[in-house]
Amino acid sequence: MADLQQLGDDSVHHDSGSDQKISVQRKLSEIFGENTFSLKKLQEHVTESTYDEIKGVILKQQQMDFSTAEHIAEALIKWAMSKGVTHYTHWFHPLTGSSAEKHDAFFKPSIDLEAKDIESLSASQLVKQEPDGSSFPTGGLRATHTARSYSIWDPSSPAFILETKNGKTLYLPAVFVSYTGESLDYKTPLLKANHALNIAATAVCRYFDQDIGHVFSTLGCEQEYFLVDEKFVNARPDLLLIGRTIFGGKSARGQQMDDHYFGSIPVRVQEFMKEFELEAMRLGIPIVTRHNEVAPGQYECAPMFEETNVSVDHNLLIMNLMENIAIKHRFRILFDEKPFAGLNGNGKHNNWSLATSNGKNLLSPGKEPGSNLQFLTFFINVIKAIHDHGDLLRAAIASEGNDHRLGANEAPPAIISVFTGSLLEEVLTKFKSEGLSSGVGQEVDMIDLKLTKISTIEKDQTDRNRTSPFPFVDNRFEFRAVGGSANCAAPMTVLNTIVANQLQAFKKEVDSRIQHTPKSEDSIVAVLQGYMEEVERIVFNGDGYSEAWEKEAMARGLSNNKTTPVALKAMISEKSQEVFANQHVLTENELHSRYEVLLENYINKVGIEGDLLEEMSRTFVLPAANEHLNKLGETYRNLSDMGLKDQAQSVVAQVTPVTDSTEMLSADLSRLMEAKSAADSIDDVGQKAEAYADQVKPIFDDVRASIDKLEGLVDDKIWPVPKYRELLFLR
Ligand code: ADP
Ligand code: MG
Repeated sequence: MADLQQLGDDSVHHDSGSDQKISVQRKLSEIFGENTFSLKKLQEHVTESTYDEIKGVILKQQQMDFSTAEHIAEALIKWAMSKGVTHYTHWFHPLTGSSAEKHDAFFKPSIDLEAKDIESLSASQLVKQEPDGSSFPTGGLRATHTARSYSIWDPSSPAFILETKNGKTLYLPAVFVSYTGESLDYKTPLLKANHALNIAATAVCRYFDQDIGHVFSTLGCEQEYFLVDEKFVNARPDLLLIGRTIFGGKSARGQQMDDHYFGSIPVRVQEFMKEFELEAMRLGIPIVTRHNEVAPGQYECAPMFEETNVSVDHNLLIMNLMENIAIKHRFRILFDEKPFAGLNGNGKHNNWSLATSNGKNLLSPGKEPGSNLQFLTFFINVIKAIHDHGDLLRAAIASEGNDHRLGANEAPPAIISVFTGSLLEEVLTKFKSEGLSSGVGQEVDMIDLKLTKISTIEKDQTDRNRTSPFPFVDNRFEFRAVGGSANCAAPMTVLNTIVANQLQAFKKEVDSRIQHTPKSEDSIVAVLQGYMEEVERIVFNGDGYSEAWEKEAMARGLSNNKTTPVALKAMISEKSQEVFANQHVLTENELHSRYEVLLENYINKVGIEGDLLEEMSRTFVLPAANEHLNKLGETYRNLSDMGLKDQAQSVVAQVTPVTDSTEMLSADLSRLMEAKSAADSIDDVGQKAEAYADQVKPIFDDVRASIDKLEGLVDDKIWPVPKYRELLFLR
């Protein structure tokens, strides 16, 4: 792709809107949350007793009665109309993976000529909308002729206003269920898992503190993304349609210089970041971290952690904002797990912990983790849950995109293990044989550079491990294997469900022991010690990228499910059905329907990729190769006409590698199409997905190899799509 010059000055300088300039001059504290209906705003609009009731619903996960909803509806509409909002919508997350909305106007004209037209939102409208369920994936739960389904408002995630040039709309986060009450979305099971976790964790917490009101999980998502200039994206059908490149030769310079991570952020990118962070602040989402990531053109942002359900919604909202604001800045944003072969992909590290109603982080090791029984209880139970249900966690992050990422360039492998760090490993070893102990980790190491102007600093107790899918960091776990484009509700639902299940089993065991041992502490220690063998099996503090670990993990009996169709099977295993049923999160029916939807998503994605590869090969790559051959032919003829036989012969030598590659490409394309139609003829969705994974997808690599070879041979002026160096290095 030759005409880099096309990218004139105008794409570098853009109008970021006068609105923003005004806002920038206002203090952040004035802006923060101005477009979100927080509890504080609600308090200003309702009576004290209604506020107390609502607080119970939102904070303690109690059920909401209709009269409370009516009061909120009144307050919400007053607030929204004071801000010039004209429409409202439920905002929900069907299993398609994107968000859905259906806008209705507040304005209701009256048929009665005498009556005044009114702007209104009743409690019943607020609580329930009725989208057509048959148009969303249900995995066989609903037939088209019985398509009724509902979105129901979730008051525990704050309503917000989104503004576009066309006006302002009030968004109400909602769950999405079928007529029979089965969940058709990501949020419903998450809320159920959160509820189960609260019950189980609160009960365990009460061994240590009778005053605990409730327990909830906290989530902070680090979101990685690439920014690519819109002109280049528009010139590449693969980026345009599926958000990743399906071919592209390595740029001579990739990430080998290691100079992009934490490097200075290009000005144009900074302008984008500034605007989206400001919009996020207005929505009450505090983005506290931004930096360059490892690959060129890759960045990361992280908001402050929040309660998991709110954090999941905020992550989806941030992605939405980023997409729209990137367009304003003439970028396209890529969240895909592997947009560029050979470079780091996009992850979304899910930092997760447990917090109590009185503000305590249950996974904070404190100064003496070895004698901190409350910490050890939650720490060990979480690791035990990961041990027992690692394959379910793997299933929860399975997607076509993530299959490319897991186990490649700086992404954790598909084997689920836990990193504890050396200090906590030592604590656990001691705990296994001796029970509670003191002294481990008491010495604090210092880093002293012996420079007068540089202060001496305390070293952290443990190093970090970027190769682990589930490391413990300071006072939280970091589920690093989640894909960049994923809805975090899926992994969080599984995590909270398995931890709830584990805590419940733990409590049962401890309680039955307490009947025989007078000291509850001894019972707790004994039960935890009984888990240590399993804990040791899943803890791995070495290099997760190494081949040696793959072998060792196999010897330890840990699963290593490399493709989505294989990984997803764990969802419908008997063990999984039991844990989801125990915790009332998903029924057998719902699990099966989800399984089917996810498999179908997978098949569709691989299918689209295959078709696109074929189409781009035939309509972009082969014509370019032919044009190149024509040019070589012309040169050959000209040289021969001039009587330069030897020189003409050297042109012939340039022809063969091109024709070799085009022949290979054509042959591989035929193989691809054959494999694809063979896969399509399979009825069983599970087998079809496996055929796509094992028979179709591997051919992509062969096709790609010929195309990438051609990219290195064909005249750059003729090559029809932008190359990696243009996509990644142009600022
Ligand atoms: P890293 O150094 O791993 O890149 P970042 O600063 O980019 O870390 O992101 C860390 C994320 O972890 C932030 O979103 C932060 O709010 C979140 N986090 C910190 N403490 C907790 C906690 N107790 N529970 C959940 N998330 C947390
Ligand atoms: Mg980070």
